[in-house]
Amino acid sequence: MAEGPLPAAPVLQLAGVRKAFNLGLPTEVEVLHGIDLTLRRGEFCALIGPSGSGKSTLLNLIGLLDRPTAGQLLIEGQDTGALEDAALTQLRGRSIGFVFQHHHLITAFTAAENVMMPLLLDRGWPGEAMRRVAESLLERVGLARWRDYPVNRLSGGQQQRVAIARALAMDPPLVLADEPTGNLDTKSADAAFDLMREFNRSRGTTFLIVTHDPRLARRCDRIIEVVDGRILSDAPVAALAAPAFPPAG
Ligand code: ADP
Ligand code: MG
Repeated sequence: MAEGPLPAAPVLQLAGVRKAFNLGLPTEVEVLHGIDLTLRRGEFCALIGPSGSGKSTLLNLIGLLDRPTAGQLLIEGQDTGALEDAALTQLRGRSIGFVFQHHHLITAFTAAENVMMPLLLDRGWPGEAMRRVAESLLERVGLARWRDYPVNRLSGGQQQRVAIARALAMDPPLVLADEPTGNLDTKSADAAFDLMREFNRSRGTTFLIVTHDPRLARRCDRIIEVVDGRILSDAPVAALAAPAFPPAG
């Protein structure tokens, strides 16, 4: 018999994933040069790397917003390369939540309407069930009393919390966040980050968070570093050398 606990099931598997863009030049420009990556259930990961290194491109592929030019990408064991566009869209809606830097909320809609949006797109949800999901998520992110306010009446930090609630609406196994705290002050950034961590702990949701903030990256379980379209390092945070002068607090 195997010793120790079995590793958690993979939520995401990439093997040899490449992405090239056709910029109208005679040859395509490749920006991801063969990415191998496995994320398991319950992992809370930071994706770091210099600007232009391919982080957003990688997130767009993982989020099924775009297709790789080569390689394999499996979501919960399902090979996405074989799927037609409609099936890909459905898989994306059910399996992946998104949090963007500029939240991408519908600003004229209320907080509750925004959180319900993924359920509406999934179709067939009774209105009452959608409202229950939205209410309980808004409660969890501390915005119950803002439920019926249009989101453009909320602060930047509150809007990002609505976006996090929306990302969790379908209870997806994987949430992708592209610089989710990039636009926020330190206090709101911490609040948004803590919320994602709470959902990770309580639901076992896997998170992949692009961040430029080393302080937040170190609070993840694992740091994946992309440089020039390749994974340069990938290590559990506990295994990284502690900084010589840990930041206060
Ligand atoms: P990061 O998020 O790490 O800053 P990106 O993934 O946005 O980096 O970009 C990586 C490289 O891919 C950059 O050189 C960028 O110009 C290029 N790129 C990204 N998206 C496209 C696109 N749709 N068409 C052409 N080039 C792109
Ligand atoms: Mg980016």
